[in-house]
Amino acid sequence: MTATNQNPVQLQQWHNLPASTVAENLGTNLDTGLTSDEVAKRRERFGTNELKAKPGKSPLVRFLLQFNQPLLYILLIAGAVKAAIGQWVNAWVIWGVTLINAIIGFIQESKAESAIAALASSVQTNATILRNHQKVQVPSADLVPGDVVLLTSGDKVPADLRLVQSRNLQVNESALTGESVAVEKNTQPLNPDAPLAERSNMAYAGSFVTFGTGKGIVVAIGEATETGRISQLMEQGTSLKTPLTRKFDKFSRTLLYIILGIAALTFAVGLGYGNSWTEMFEAAIAFAVSAIPEGLPAVVTVTLAIGVSRMARRHAIVRKLPAVETLGGATVICSDKTGTLTENQMTVQAIYAGGKQYTVTGTGYVPEGEILLAEQPINWDHSPVLAECLKAGLLCNDSHLEQKEGQWQVVGDPTEGALIVAANKVQLERTQVEQAMPRLDVIPFESEFQYMATLHEDGSRGDRTIYVKGSVEAILQRCQQMLEAEANLSSINPDTIHQQVDAMAHQGLRVLAFAKKSVSVAQDTLEHTDIDKNLVFLGLQGMIDPPRKEAIAAVAACQNAGIQVKMITGDHAVTARAIAERMGFNQHGEVLAFTGSQLAQMEKSELATAIEDGVVFARVAPEQKLRIVEALQSKGEIVAMTGDGVNDAPALKQAEIGIAMGAAGTEVAKEAADMILTDDNFASIEAAVEEGRTVYRNLLKAIAFILPVNGGESMTILISVLLARALPILSLQVLWLNMVNSIAMTVPLAFEPKSPRVMQRQPRSPREPLLSRSLIKRILAISIFNWILIFGVFEWIRQTTGNIALARTMAIQGLVAGRLFYLLSISQLGIAIINRLRGIRQTFSDASVMGIGIACAIILQIIFSQWSLMNRLFSTAPLNLQQWFICLLVGLPMIPLAILVNRFDPLD
Ligand code: ADP
Ligand code: MG
Repeated sequence: MTATNQNPVQLQQWHNLPASTVAENLGTNLDTGLTSDEVAKRRERFGTNELKAKPGKSPLVRFLLQFNQPLLYILLIAGAVKAAIGQWVNAWVIWGVTLINAIIGFIQESKAESAIAALASSVQTNATILRNHQKVQVPSADLVPGDVVLLTSGDKVPADLRLVQSRNLQVNESALTGESVAVEKNTQPLNPDAPLAERSNMAYAGSFVTFGTGKGIVVAIGEATETGRISQLMEQGTSLKTPLTRKFDKFSRTLLYIILGIAALTFAVGLGYGNSWTEMFEAAIAFAVSAIPEGLPAVVTVTLAIGVSRMARRHAIVRKLPAVETLGGATVICSDKTGTLTENQMTVQAIYAGGKQYTVTGTGYVPEGEILLAEQPINWDHSPVLAECLKAGLLCNDSHLEQKEGQWQVVGDPTEGALIVAANKVQLERTQVEQAMPRLDVIPFESEFQYMATLHEDGSRGDRTIYVKGSVEAILQRCQQMLEAEANLSSINPDTIHQQVDAMAHQGLRVLAFAKKSVSVAQDTLEHTDIDKNLVFLGLQGMIDPPRKEAIAAVAACQNAGIQVKMITGDHAVTARAIAERMGFNQHGEVLAFTGSQLAQMEKSELATAIEDGVVFARVAPEQKLRIVEALQSKGEIVAMTGDGVNDAPALKQAEIGIAMGAAGTEVAKEAADMILTDDNFASIEAAVEEGRTVYRNLLKAIAFILPVNGGESMTILISVLLARALPILSLQVLWLNMVNSIAMTVPLAFEPKSPRVMQRQPRSPREPLLSRSLIKRILAISIFNWILIFGVFEWIRQTTGNIALARTMAIQGLVAGRLFYLLSISQLGIAIINRLRGIRQTFSDASVMGIGIACAIILQIIFSQWSLMNRLFSTAPLNLQQWFICLLVGLPMIPLAILVNRFDPLD
């Protein structure tokens, strides 16, 4: 090996050398790969195949950005005004509280960001390579120079490769070259000065295989790859911005102008009444501070971050933060059938060959069971075509079975696994059959073509045989003849076959057709054109793929929640419909099914209606998924769409929520998705919707909780100024309430467990404003109550005791007591208590965070009035027991009010 640690690519013009020389230079064997020993040595020398994440914004910058909020400008200015008029203690307290707020925001934001980033990177990329004479899957990070990588469509190229084999290989290199059209690859050596974009015998890390298959030698990994070199320009970082946070930003900007306007008015009116400048500054600042919901931004971030981690716990990894809130508003979920709604645990149950119908016993991948003809064991002398059909299933197959911890598992495609098991049940073994007929070439299965073909030597007769398997439609149209009972050729009768297919499909069986063709010895490669016609039909195999139990429940849950579920599949319409009916898709009427070709013939408007009304879409080509999403969106739906293949990427991007499969999905699909399911299960989508809805409800609760306090405080100050009375609450005290008290009491709302009713509501309308009419009414009602409380307690205590500091303190403590009851009334904890009182039984969900928050808030309030330092900083007065009791009492009327408000506008 001649490469050095630094950068094999730069030292070698790999594209200029013949493939064999590259292999030689890198000390590797193209057929067997590297050995483990060699890999260990190279790992030590070259490190792992990873890009170092470039640090994002520095912590200091991110900290300073915390102050970059319009609402905080006001606070900073308010502090400056206080300082200017010589009230230094006040100024420092304002700045101090602002600083604490920024620190809390900074910590929460950093935690949220790193949690999301960690989740995103937990989705690792795998590569299929040759090592120790074996084809294995390893994490891409484990590759070393010299590794031999196998590429198929949908793969992400894991490192820089010099291609040594290419079968119609096409690679999308847009990440590197900006060219969005996939380029064809070959293996010919090129001119040394060929520019990157023209090096057609190289595949570069980070690009995607969009078509075909290939093989390449790793020539550079990690930072030494071309992407590694340019990625130094890219910045790693997760954005915490979502449509909702943007709405918040806009909302606070509007609020800012209103506040400034009213503050100026307060100031002017007060002066007009003959108050002093200092008094009016205090009033204007108190008003501005009281009207700003300082605690809100922090709660929004925390709520979103918690939503992300809850979804992850339920197998849904959010790649793009906005998905968290969009999910809650989803109105349609389009889901793949195979593997997402069903188990992807295929078992062949019925075979049709040579005009005879066979049944297969046994379940799963255990090779135990029998093939029966009319309930009798088969007599091979009378079933020669059955053997051919099973052999076709074994030979035209890229998967294998493995026994892991006593369990039989498929490595590869479950559809193909089932075919192996079926053959094994009658002692037809892969190795024997393959020895007799070694494979020369293959056209791998792609959803687009719906078939797979292999070319074999036929030892016995000296010529060659092509075996083809695929969907009935794809195979039958290529067959002119079939093997009849005694294995003689006869002309084909498509109607009889279609009847058989229908019978199988009606039972929900997935049907595969098999065919073969003899070709001359001269042929040793396989092209699509070779199997265009003249195939000989061998038979059908029908396999069950049981629905996932959790998915059945999840479909029902979605339908109850007003979310349409649509099944999108490449499978046969009758099969898909049978499965859909078995899964309860027909709960709300008949299951309307359309096929891809039906959709293709429709006019645009007709299409949109069909797609809106249809439930099952069968034989859908991947490109049609995009049209389905667009049609639904044109009807105003919010669409979640699943996908796993290369061609699904456009649909995943177009959908509001693109969902990729973690296990079965290609890298292309994952990259395009907003969310990845680690267990490929439909139930996890439903779970994510539940969590998404909870996030939104919790945000609403936070708004409904915070704004009435701002409302009550600012009304108090405004009215007091207008009535020319002493302020019942000072700016610093307002600050304490809005920041310290609010954070302790609101952050727990972000942790609120989900309501038992969360999936009983209709999806929220995308046009629904953040502050709906009922929410505004609620906020107003509670605000007025708060105002009466503050104003009333203050005036009452001031008039009876003449002690202004005491009156202010008691007004605040009374407000907090009322606030506490209100918080309980909108939390799951309180709602459960109220329901119990009303005789509705409900289990308590986890409410520990709420408990901690309330305890903290109470302790802070005690410190606020009882500690002499706080008395000096915030102009408060200590309360005696009796006064505490009064404060608690005045808060009590909040309970009936909250119950009343909840009845009109339930927040859970
Ligand atoms: P889905 O995953 O939605 O069931 P696919 O696109 O995978 O749909 O499959 C479409 C059709 O192609 C299937 O109904 C089947 O007839 C055929 N098919 C599926 N897998 C294979 C395979 N490995 N080899 C040959 N044909 C297949
Ligand atoms: Mg499939």
